[in-house]
Amino acid sequence: MEDWAALGVEGHIHAKRPWLYYHRFSKKALARLVGAKTSEVVSMNQLTVNLHLMLVSFYKPTKTRYKIITEAGAFSSDQYALESQLKFHNIDPAIGLIELKPKAGEFTLRTEDILKAIDDNKDELALVLFGAVQYYTGQFFNIKEIAKAAHQAGAYAGFDLAHAMGNVPLQLHSDNVDFAIWCSYKYLNSGPGGMAGVFIHEKHAINFELPRFAGWWGHDEVNRFKMQKGFVPMKGVDGWQLSNYPVLSGATHLASLELFEKAGIKNLRKKSILLTGFLEYLLKSIDNHSQHFTILTPGVVGERGCQLSILMKKDGKKVFNKITKAGVIADWREPNVIRVAPVPMYNTYEEVFRFYEIFKRALN
Ligand SMILES: *Cc1c(COP(=O)(O)O)cnc(C)c1O
Repeated sequence: MEDWAALGVEGHIHAKRPWLYYHRFSKKALARLVGAKTSEVVSMNQLTVNLHLMLVSFYKPTKTRYKIITEAGAFSSDQYALESQLKFHNIDPAIGLIELKPKAGEFTLRTEDILKAIDDNKDELALVLFGAVQYYTGQFFNIKEIAKAAHQAGAYAGFDLAHAMGNVPLQLHSDNVDFAIWCSYKYLNSGPGGMAGVFIHEKHAINFELPRFAGWWGHDEVNRFKMQKGFVPMKGVDGWQLSNYPVLSGATHLASLELFEKAGIKNLRKKSILLTGFLEYLLKSIDNHSQHFTILTPGVVGERGCQLSILMKKDGKKVFNKITKAGVIADWREPNVIRVAPVPMYNTYEEVFRFYEIFKRALN
């Protein structure tokens, strides 16, 4: 803010962090969070915008290969993006979109069933798109296996990291993911409407054959201000940028990323496993025969982040209102799920215990 007041437009060059290069300052931290090279990540736009940009590049349906596989009950915005992209290509979503549902009586998808569905559709499959951590159930999908199966089927593999970013460590580069997108206002705490981001694997980075929607900020930065005809993309994911960087949002994003750098995602994960395990243990001690509720989220540590989704058997909304009144910030999802997420960055074991007491009282 001081640089803006003192420098005005000159801040593009002379600010402490020159605005012209603002997208660079978050790269190291983002690369560490998603397990990528700095050339593979960039912060830009908002999540849904980025999803559309990625679909332009990675969903290129042909007469025979046009199907998309995704999880049933995906976040609404992702559903709308996919539906509208299919229609944009004159494909009926009822035919082009395959939404995988858990087996009857189960709440989450089995990896073997996902891999089988991919293989079953291998002649027609163009893209596999999954939430890395499913927002409703909290299931952390097996990214590596899904990407491998997608590639064996001749399709691209993309992931929405909205609920994974800052929650679980990721290895997108070695897992051979083609692209990923995220927002930063959930676990990344960078403030309302904060900067979103994109990962594109380096194997695509200099593939100038991939179709893309272009803007001047993706153009070769050495010649950007010559304002000449003919788009020449920058190498790497930077070549997908459209517009100049929203520096104010970027500043709060950097402030948050600094904390993640200090804490380290691996350390956060260690605490997270214990904290969430403690919560699960306490919840089960209240209702070990699942009379009042069931935890939808997988019990296997490697298949979840810090979120537990509690499926209420009755009076769910009443219980939710009671715990909210008592000062708990949880999340209500229709028709009957309470999501709770003890976040390792700032939640304590004592707070988890206090939640348990409040929740138990609300049930009674
Ligand atoms: C939060 C969330 C979004 C939100 O999209 P915006 O474009 O940031 O508004 C999209 N997808 C998923 C899976 C989310 O969890």
